[in-house]
Amino acid sequence: MNKEEILKQAVEVFGVQPQIEMMIEEASELIQALQKLKRVGNRDEKLDNVYEEIADCKLVLEQMENIFGKENIKAKEDYKLERLAFRIKQKVL
Ligand SMILES: [Mg+2]
Repeated sequence: MNKEEILKQAVEVFGVQPQIEMMIEEASELIQALQKLKRVGNRDEKLDNVYEEIADCKLVLEQMENIFGKENIKAKEDYKLERLAFRIKQKVL
């Protein structure tokens, strides 16, 4: 099975609502991992946690695209990317 198939099966096997709950959980874990970067302590360990939580979020985000419709999200992404490029251009000029 390739990545796309695994992620589609995850939603089929575990269900839409549990995977949405998983997204909420992983997003909050990433927020916490990023917050902890600001604390004193083992930076390598904290960075490793950030990498892990970004990976978790990416995998669940792709499932969210399957649930909510890739084309709906792509349209918003394209618009926001263009808006970002415009804002960068305004800042640079
Ligand atoms: Mg996680």
